[in-house]
Amino acid sequence: MPSVIVIGGGISGLAAAWELRGKAQVTVLEAGDRVGGKLRTGTLAGIPVDEGAESVMALRPEAVRLAEEVGLGDSLCDPEPAPVTFWTRGALRPLPAGHVMGIPADPADLSGSGLLSDEGLARLAREEAIPAHPVLSDGTNGSNGTDRTDISIAGYLAPRIGQEAVDRLVEPLLGGIYAGRTDQLSLRSALPFLAPVAASDESLLAALRRRREGRRTAPGPKPSVVRGIAGGTGRLPRAVAAASGARVLTSSTALSLERAAGSRWRVHAATEYGSATLDADAVIVALPAHAAATLLGPHSPAAEAELDAVRYAGSAVVTMAFARRWQDGPSPDLNGFLVPPVDGRTIKAATLLSHKWAWQREEAPSKLILRASVGRVGEEHLLGLDDRRLVTLARTELSQALGPLGDLHASKVTRWPQGLPQYEVGHANRVAAIREAVGKLPGVELCGALYEGVGVAACVTTGRAAAQRLREE
Ligand SMILES: Cc1cc2nc3c(=O)[nH]c(=O)nc-3n(C[C@H](O)[C@H](O)[C@H](O)COP(=O)(O)OP(=O)(O)OC[C@H]3O[C@@H](n4cnc5c(N)ncnc54)[C@H](O)[C@@H]3O)c2cc1C
Repeated sequence: MPSVIVIGGGISGLAAAWELRGKAQVTVLEAGDRVGGKLRTGTLAGIPVDEGAESVMALRPEAVRLAEEVGLGDSLCDPEPAPVTFWTRGALRPLPAGHVMGIPADPADLSGSGLLSDEGLARLAREEAIPAHPVLSDGTNGSNGTDRTDISIAGYLAPRIGQEAVDRLVEPLLGGIYAGRTDQLSLRSALPFLAPVAASDESLLAALRRRREGRRTAPGPKPSVVRGIAGGTGRLPRAVAAASGARVLTSSTALSLERAAGSRWRVHAATEYGSATLDADAVIVALPAHAAATLLGPHSPAAEAELDAVRYAGSAVVTMAFARRWQDGPSPDLNGFLVPPVDGRTIKAATLLSHKWAWQREEAPSKLILRASVGRVGEEHLLGLDDRRLVTLARTELSQALGPLGDLHASKVTRWPQGLPQYEVGHANRVAAIREAVGKLPGVELCGALYEGVGVAACVTTGRAAAQRLREE
């Protein structure tokens, strides 16, 4: 049986280990003292709370399927139904259904919502009167004589729907997913379904209406967009690690990668027992970009340069338990809210964990558990504030949005300095260049949040695909 070292015990690397079960002898090297990376369930005053990701995409099947495969099917759960809500222009304002990434297919849906000013709404409604021309090419020939394979999200959207709609509708949603900015994020990589529209002469709103018609579902309750895991999403990596049968070495940091005899690879690692050297037929590098660059640099300067150029957004999650029953707290129709940066707040999003997840309130029936996220790209200074300051800032803004919250029972700050890779303009080309460079290294595969999407489901896909490619080599 071939041997494989998976470097990085986040969900991407563990999905690769699971895919190789029974087909290879797998060793997972994880620098932290536990597996899971950004899937981490900790405790707050004895109550389990997710400190990183708290749900997985349900519209695409990969993460849910993996949970089922490793025996967590009975623990999968839906959030309570609640509309996407923005804290903006001085109030909590639900976003009417029927939007795509914040953009309503029919601007009339927004009237009365207060989400946009009258001028902003009128500008959005004029979209179809503005002639559309292709602003993206497909890379094989130029549009209007130029070869333009990518554009920023704001670069495409602002001339169509107006800057205010971008700032107040799209920016907060993308801030929630990427912690990024619409004037830097790639349309092709971050909103790929809009790329064909941007490469055509179709109106954006007309295209969104067409998409909505194509997706009309049967009457009745809509399926959840996301799902959670009772007890915390941190259970998923633990279950995958256990079910994979891999040898998992935590507190073990890969320091360098070198060629060993024949076509094998050698990893030098620092473990809690001292340095270690491991040889294997193949390695899967399941790391954030800069850690991957360090290992791959000696073998592929081209891959190193591209990996090092990837920017990350750091963020902090402030989780708080208030000494009151959740039923006595804010409106039960609210699971959380997003905050447009133009509103000038510190927090970018909040989740009412006790409202959103039944398992969370069953764990702590006499507590209201909330979390606030702080830090978009370019706001890394916020992570340098001490815990007490971050808790005070988060608590103050949460009470301004939700009303008085009562006595704070316990709080916890979790920092994610390398939280989310930024899919900036040109990201698809960068990923292609990295893959081409690493493709010249037989027995090395890559996976992780950098490549196909930052969500857990996309990470699972990259991990399994990396393992499959190795099996085919
Ligand atoms: C605050 C936050 C909230 C999020 N919320 C959601 C959400 O609700 N839903 C969703 O789908 N996605 C969410 N995401 C995104 C998602 O959680 C991540 O993109 C995904 O978990 C990344 O998985 P990964 O395995 O690629 O990387 P990571 O989780 O970063 O794992 C990489 C692992 O490699 C280890 N490592 C690093 N260097 C070395 C080395 N030299 N040797 C050995 N090990 C090393 C690290 O310790 C880490 O465990 C969130 C992200 C953050 C930061």
